[in-house]
Amino acid sequence: MRNSLKQLIAGPCSAETREQVLETAKEIADIKNLTYFRAGIWKPRTAPGSFEGIGEEGLKWMNEAKQQFGVKLITEVATPEHVDTCLAHNLDAIWIGARTTVNPFYVQQIADSLKGIDIPVFIKNPISPDVGLWMGAIERFKLAGIKNISVIHRGFYSYTKGIFRNPPMWEIPIKLKTEFPDLQIICDPSHITGDSELIEEVSKFAVQLGMDGLMIETHPNPPKAWSDAKQQVTPDHLKKIVNAINANEVNRDIKHEELEILRKTVTSSDDDMLKEIAHRMKIVEKIATFKKENSAMVFQLERWKIVLEESNKRGAELGLSEQFVADLMNLIHRESLNIHNTIYNS
Ligand code: PEP
Ligand code: MN
Repeated sequence: MRNSLKQLIAGPCSAETREQVLETAKEIADIKNLTYFRAGIWKPRTAPGSFEGIGEEGLKWMNEAKQQFGVKLITEVATPEHVDTCLAHNLDAIWIGARTTVNPFYVQQIADSLKGIDIPVFIKNPISPDVGLWMGAIERFKLAGIKNISVIHRGFYSYTKGIFRNPPMWEIPIKLKTEFPDLQIICDPSHITGDSELIEEVSKFAVQLGMDGLMIETHPNPPKAWSDAKQQVTPDHLKKIVNAINANEVNRDIKHEELEILRKTVTSSDDDMLKEIAHRMKIVEKIATFKKENSAMVFQLERWKIVLEESNKRGAELGLSEQFVADLMNLIHRESLNIHNTIYNS
């Protein structure tokens, strides 16, 4: 089965001026995958004093864009007042921002304000990597009677900065998809990468992963944007990204049998790995029993440091990433401590 780009939401991070809104819409309206024209009207900015959105006036400009170029409109809402204002201006859809999804009180207030109203709602992931919180927000809108719910994966806040502004942690949207198989998941590579140069690569990956669409911030003159300047693409750049994805869809030549063989090999490798881990844990049981009988300390920091160093070194030799080896060893250590705990208390 080939994955294709089913939905595209594009437009500026923020509506800034009437000209900027109309120019962007004009340039992107003819992209065949475009499902919604986005523009932020109320902006949740980290520091006070930065541009916090143009407000209601911007909704009028968006409606002009709709009349002139036939685009459907979507913006972010964070309060019931925003919802009322959007409904008064006939927006076609709304999205809930990442800083709103984290707070069940806000989510509930917005959901309540939508009771009896049939408008598509897109829910961004909470900034914290908490799939339960994301699912909770979905449930709140479902309970309010909203039929058309989709989600937007925009990555998760991380204190340590790598190449991405908000690391994607793909396992989280995948977990959500396993809980809600029919849910449409849109990927927002703009907020994931924070860098217009990385958007194409992440977009392609998201589509290959089976995501149902993309939300890409697009601005006629990104360096001059009033918010998120580094991550916005020009309309031409957006077209290049979309064309690359669509072309890939037609030309891609996956050899399915080869893929099947590789998958079987991975399954058998997983089996070997689990057997090996089970064997390791049996040895841990023996060590824990020995320590208990000889009243030795459960945890020895020096010993643990050596284990970590050795596995780091070995992992690097084997071409594994340092972070992966550290995460794996910590997980194994946690289970070892659980085994110690059971044996000490038995
Ligand atoms: C946005 O889409 O412009 C935005 C503010 O997104 P997020 O809520 O993902 O930070
Ligand atoms: Mn933005």
